[in-house]
Amino acid sequence: MSKHEPISIEAIKAMMNLTDEDLKKPLPVPTKWSRPFWEAAKEHRLVLRKCSRCGNIDHPPYLYCTACQADEHEWIEASGKGTLFAYAVNHFGVPFPFWADLPYVRAWSTSPRGCA
Ligand SMILES: [Zn+2]
Repeated sequence: MSKHEPISIEAIKAMMNLTDEDLKKPLPVPTKWSRPFWEAAKEHRLVLRKCSRCGNIDHPPYLYCTACQADEHEWIEASGKGTLFAYAVNHFGVPFPFWADLPYVRAWSTSPRGCA
């Protein structure tokens, strides 16, 4: 087996004596201020919380604006454009529930201000 060949989930279960319950992915627990983000994610959309007073975008979303502490906000949809700073391809080293998804890419990027 090469170092990049994926291990089947059944092989992992057998090696580690895991059950299907052990391999359930944890689900997010939405708060009242993050629920719109998670609802959009279910629809495969990325929305961001934008302060209506100063225009600051907080992600992850907070109860109030981290720049001016206002709680007036709007949800804007990200354009999908941005600048990629770095990425890595994960081949191992993740919790068991995510092994079936390997390899996957983790990236660090920024979006243009306003994201429209
Ligand atoms: Zn603000």
